[in-house]
Amino acid sequence: RMRQRPAEMNTVARPVYDTAFDTLPGYDELRMVRATGEALGIANPFFRPHEGRAGALSRIAGQEVINFASYDYLGLNGHPDVRRAAQEAIERYGTSVSASRLVAGERPFHRELEARLAGLHQAEDAVVFVSGHAANVTSVATLVGSKDAVFHDALIHNSIIVGAELSGAARRTFAHNDLDALERMLAAERGHYHRVLIVVEGLYSMDGDVPDLARLAALKQRFGAWLMVDEAHGIGVLGATGRGIAELAGLDPALVDIWMGTLSKSFASCGGYIAGSQTLIDYLKVSAPGFVYSVGLAPAAAGAALAAIEAMEREGERVAALQANARHFFETAQAAGLSTGTAEGHAIVPIMVGDSLMAVLLSERLLARGVNVLPIIHPAVPHRSARLRFFITAAHTTGQLDEAVRVLKQEIEESSRFLAALGFDSE
Ligand code: PMP
Repeated sequence: RMRQRPAEMNTVARPVYDTAFDTLPGYDELRMVRATGEALGIANPFFRPHEGRAGALSRIAGQEVINFASYDYLGLNGHPDVRRAAQEAIERYGTSVSASRLVAGERPFHRELEARLAGLHQAEDAVVFVSGHAANVTSVATLVGSKDAVFHDALIHNSIIVGAELSGAARRTFAHNDLDALERMLAAERGHYHRVLIVVEGLYSMDGDVPDLARLAALKQRFGAWLMVDEAHGIGVLGATGRGIAELAGLDPALVDIWMGTLSKSFASCGGYIAGSQTLIDYLKVSAPGFVYSVGLAPAAAGAALAAIEAMEREGERVAALQANARHFFETAQAAGLSTGTAEGHAIVPIMVGDSLMAVLLSERLLARGVNVLPIIHPAVPHRSARLRFFITAAHTTGQLDEAVRVLKQEIEESSRFLAALGFDSE
């Protein structure tokens, strides 16, 4: 039996509003990419499930592969101490803290973890958020407003851009690592704004290069701005003891006003943090909506991160192994004639292939040969600068790194021939 329709649905002169999802921006592009992939018989490289812990080795569709697609830089995901700490935290506190920290969600491990994180950056204090993305969005949106500006590197992570847009501040980009351009921008525009926040990454996630921290610190002092460094990929990775870009550059971490990092990469967990002065942290803890109105970090996540930081400090050879592996892979790839873009031999090494289709095809062929590496394509990187992004970890063996370069070199040559035969220009 037909139900009666609500009376207002029968009104005749109603404007036609768009209620479809497939008219949303970018959906057409998605459909086209899928259709091209299907026509060429290339499977979607994204959302492939791993059937267990993804370390230097992982299992995909029943096949064991050498894995270069996970952030587990120090090989701590699955370390016995880290697992045990997560389990003990669950035994004692349960699986959730069940409230914002301001109300009933505060647990002793929160401050313990924050003290450890502050210590890594020699900062007065730190505050943890439920994700790195949330930490950036909510902190940037809280610290600047409509009279202010965010000046950021063109390759800055999405979470900074989203935070800046949300803040209502002017958002200006300078070309990647071009500090002359930043200086010109500051000289021309500093006076237009009340506060200026300069944001860079310690190690760039798509290109694997680092900024000139000394010059950034000098610029921010000269022009009266805040300097924020996103160390998502720098902490645990750069510097002799893994303390990040300041240690690598041999600079006092206090030159940076706002340190940001995540727990999801070197620290084998989930969560993000800001470290800095007591005033900054006190302010964020009462003002940043992503902290005030969000649940406190979960016990297992905090337990794992704490144990991972301790393991990094106790087992200093992990940082050394990561750095030796990264350099080995980088040098071997270059010796094989592969293009590594602006990478500098740290843990992120892109192999530039140019064309998006080529990158997707290569990823699939490498997987079939036991090497898992993901393509990075537009819009994550500019058109024509698609790449395969290798994350090197402390857990890889030299044999695995050499094998990956050998297979990669062969497949790049074969895939170029394949695409050329189809009439694609993959250069
Ligand atoms: N900043 C950078 C530079 C990142 O690469 C990422 C994640 N890839 C984030 C922030 C967000 O961190 P998370 O994944 O821990 O939310």
